Amino acid sequence: MLDADSAQPEESFFEMTVRIPDIYSTGQFGLSIEIFPPKTSEGDDSLRQTLCELAPFKPAFVSCTYGAGGSTSKRTVEWCQEIQSGYGLPATAHFTCVGGTREQLVEWLQYAWSAGIRNIMALRGDAPVGQAEFRRTEGGLNYANELVALIRERFPEMGIGVAGYPEKHPTAPSFEVDFQNLVRKIKTGADAVFTQLFFDNSRFFRFRDLLQRERLGVPVVPGIMPITEFARIQRITAMCGAVIPSSLASRLEAAKQDKLAQSEIGVEFAIAQCRELIDQGVPGIHLYCLNKSQACQWILEALGLGL
Ligand SMILES: Cc1cc2nc3c(=O)[nH]c(=O)nc-3n(C[C@H](O)[C@H](O)[C@H](O)COP(=O)(O)OP(=O)(O)OC[C@H]3O[C@@H](n4cnc5c(N)ncnc54)[C@H](O)[C@@H]3O)c2cc1C
Repeated sequence: MLDADSAQPEESFFEMTVRIPDIYSTGQFGLSIEIFPPKTSEGDDSLRQTLCELAPFKPAFVSCTYGAGGSTSKRTVEWCQEIQSGYGLPATAHFTCVGGTREQLVEWLQYAWSAGIRNIMALRGDAPVGQAEFRRTEGGLNYANELVALIRERFPEMGIGVAGYPEKHPTAPSFEVDFQNLVRKIKTGADAVFTQLFFDNSRFFRFRDLLQRERLGVPVVPGIMPITEFARIQRITAMCGAVIPSSLASRLEAAKQDKLAQSEIGVEFAIAQCRELIDQGVPGIHLYCLNKSQACQWILEALGLGL
């Protein structure tokens, strides 16, 4: 049971909380950084250090993921509170439809709202471990567009981000079908699209241009994950379907025995990738930092962002 009263923050939380639509409407570049709630107290300490090191780059917000199957339900909100109170940064709480009835989803949203959270990354979520595919909870929701509708209905002031897939969602029958599902999600009330990680900018530009043609007026923010370990990124891309360009894959393959070299290749690639995206006018960059600061610091320093 979530206790909304125990989550009541200081009044100052509400004054400083910036909503996603306000960030991109200023025309200023919006850097955002994604973290996940650690599973151990050592992980918590390490994440606090990471946030200390990345806060000087003045991210427009830091988002905290929602563990598969709702495993971090309270922790996501607690981390968002800490991001706002401890580091003075706006936070975005990720939230999924997994495992919740409509009433339970509203209860969690109320808990997050009472805790001072004003931005939600509204997601359907993946199937919990051991379940082959996503199944709607009885009395719950099927797709992220329904969650967007629920948030708009019950918390009309909430800023809402949604996920977009320049290389299509892995289970979608085609790019076109997935794209139309995204369009529906935006028309339902999303304020911005944050993309799945990708390494081939041409795929992002095609995706962004198609969305611009729909004249929906929402910012499309590219999601960038710096490669620091080839084996890890192979595992991640196998799940999310992002393609690693063959030239990059062969360079990483050649450095298979040398983790430092892999990280240098990954950072160099991410810098070039972000430079091109910024030159092409993206409204921001959403950095998947995997709770580590070093690669992000190198990238942000090279790009001259924030400092
Ligand atoms: C920026 C970002 C952050 C993420 N954060 C998290 C997180 O914190 N926790 C987590 O568990 N996962 C997270 N994910 C992963 C996400 O939950 C999965 O990719 C999930 O499989 C789909 O979520 P979605 O919100 O994109 O779903 P949806 O938009 O609902 O799409 C899911 C699938 O259904 C199809 N579809 C959508 N709407 C309809 C409809 N109305 N009718 C028929 N088909 C439809 C789509 O084409 C797609 O194939 C994140 C992904 C991104 C890109």
